[in-house]
Amino acid sequence: MSVPDWFGQGLPHVWLPYTQMRTAPPPLPVVATEGSRIKLADGRELIDGIASWWTACHGYNHPHIAEAVTRQLRTMPHVMFGGLAHEPALTLARRLTALLPDALTRVFFCDSGSVAVDVAMKMAVQFWLNKGVSGRTKFLSFRGGYHGDTFAAMSVCDPEEGMHSLFSGVLAKQIIVDLPTDEPREAAFEAALDADADALAAIIVEPLAQGAGGMIFHSPEVLRKLRRAADRHGLLLIFDEVFTGFGRTGTLFACEAAGVVPDILALSKALTGGTMGLGATVASSAVFEAFASDDPLHALMHGPTFMANPLACAAANASLDLFESEPRLQQVAAIAAALARDLEPCRELPGVRDVRVQGAIGVVELGSIDDMTALKRRFVEAGVWVRPFRNIVYLTPAFTISEDDLKRLTDAIVAVLRAGAG
Ligand code: PLP
Repeated sequence: MSVPDWFGQGLPHVWLPYTQMRTAPPPLPVVATEGSRIKLADGRELIDGIASWWTACHGYNHPHIAEAVTRQLRTMPHVMFGGLAHEPALTLARRLTALLPDALTRVFFCDSGSVAVDVAMKMAVQFWLNKGVSGRTKFLSFRGGYHGDTFAAMSVCDPEEGMHSLFSGVLAKQIIVDLPTDEPREAAFEAALDADADALAAIIVEPLAQGAGGMIFHSPEVLRKLRRAADRHGLLLIFDEVFTGFGRTGTLFACEAAGVVPDILALSKALTGGTMGLGATVASSAVFEAFASDDPLHALMHGPTFMANPLACAAANASLDLFESEPRLQQVAAIAAALARDLEPCRELPGVRDVRVQGAIGVVELGSIDDMTALKRRFVEAGVWVRPFRNIVYLTPAFTISEDDLKRLTDAIVAVLRAGAG
């Protein structure tokens, strides 16, 4: 493979994510994206099954977003959000709260999903401090969960899932239990609450789909149980919709499908249609009111430099336009049907434990993947960008992917797994 100069000269100076830099094969030089295609420097084109870590819900380079960002770039690429306000952020806050359940009325902007979760956790802790209740500083979260890589977010991730186990001695100790998906688990969940409720600020969960922890789905009823339990114990409930927000599980937000209103909700990823970093932590009026006081120290003590970046907010507003003007949720339903039909043959393949679909998320769970590097390489050789992790091969395509491209993705998964998983 011929590589461009910028690649050979720059690669020795970058540090790549989740990568053992000594042994991992080099990344693929990419020169352009378009729709559901990734164009490599050597001229090859890959069909993208991942939408860049689940962000590019309208496909890459959507002209409506590009135009909005270009217009914003000319007038005001950035201005600080302390003491100043601008139209893209205020419009976005108004539009987001109009789309979310009525109780969620206040948006705090930041720049990534992890920070949106950190802010949600800080809001929950400070909510109690502002009310004069001390000692409510812990969180109850769930095995299989993933909430980000910053220190607060890491502390509520599944402690066993490998990525963060090294830091167990450093992270804040939280209460981590199984989701109450059946009676024994519900009993354990209730027992944990009974034992520790007074030390808890909030329960935090990824509603309907736990993503990076293993693409594990649960029913809306589980979320209703969490809401009832939080209410019984007077706790806040935080929904981390960084993955599920903006249609991924079939409704615009996962909380809608459950008819459950959290007290705080975190968004990022597809918020800008996959064009740039932006996070939003949306709080209920009741949470917000706990910060209203004559005491300046009761203010929310957070303020990332690039919060509410106008370019990112313009991209997010343009992305919301597309959710209004194009049939995204119908596209998600069509993708769900195609994934269920076309991944089904995997169920018969040796080593496959489960095949499952929720909205535009298709998952093939294996017993194990022996040679991850070889498996990833075989997907690239098949002309697709599929990124298995742990024992999971999955698809989270753009909602705009063509039927043909989606079929090529599912066919590639069936063919590659039939040849043996790594
Ligand atoms: N929360 C969830 C549910 C996520 O899936 C992720 C990222 O995968 C995060 C938080 C962290 O987001 P970011 O990578 O933007 O920090």
